[in-house]
Amino acid sequence: MFYGGEPTLRTDLPEIIRSARENGYRRIKLLTNARAFSNIQVLQDIINAGCYLFEIEMWGSNPSLHDHLTGVSGSFWETMKGLENLAGHPHEKFVSARVHLCNENYPDIENAVATALNFGVNRVILSVQDGILPFQSAMPHIKNAINISIFNRTWILTQFVPFCVMQGLEQHVSEIYGGLDTIYEKTFVKHKYCVECIYNELCGGLESKHLEQSGRMEFSPVKATKYLQDIRKLYE
Ligand code: SF4
Repeated sequence: MFYGGEPTLRTDLPEIIRSARENGYRRIKLLTNARAFSNIQVLQDIINAGCYLFEIEMWGSNPSLHDHLTGVSGSFWETMKGLENLAGHPHEKFVSARVHLCNENYPDIENAVATALNFGVNRVILSVQDGILPFQSAMPHIKNAINISIFNRTWILTQFVPFCVMQGLEQHVSEIYGGLDTIYEKTFVKHKYCVECIYNELCGGLESKHLEQSGRMEFSPVKATKYLQDIRKLYE
């Protein structure tokens, strides 16, 4: 997996991808804001080099919010053009939208997911990137976004949302399928009542800032769930 910063800023990225393939790596994934793909030739070079898995970072459904959060004017439309070029490229590929969630954009998350779905993405990941995201307020939007994606027959996952917050939607917790390793620098902790939670042995914990910000009441131990056996099997 190539990630950054922004890997497409390297002009030698196609050579690096080609070298990875020559060294036996069969699945090569690029995590990118896709702005560079607004130039179709850049996308073509990456695909020619042998990368067919893409994860596209989005921060909102409109230019004012997305550009405000990226800090780059015009970045929204470049990302949209990149997604359009990806969608129109005939080579077989897998495109995931990584929609970042923070305190400033969570009310827009349904629109952001709908925007990604309009480009025919194969999967959506809602990734919490903000230790002060108020889960209680954000969860109705996360639930709506999950339903929108499911109604559009597109698999959707969450990242960094603990089981106790996701109750009833646990099957969308990405850590079940991908493990607890992450490319992001985060510190996870548990509170003293986590030992009473049926997910304790499977759960990686909460981002420490969340616990400081919200207190443990937002993260009450789960006492029973019909999903536990299935989830445990996926971890095995
Ligand atoms: S172990 Fe703690 S943080 Fe994890 S799901 Fe249970 S209560 Fe939440």
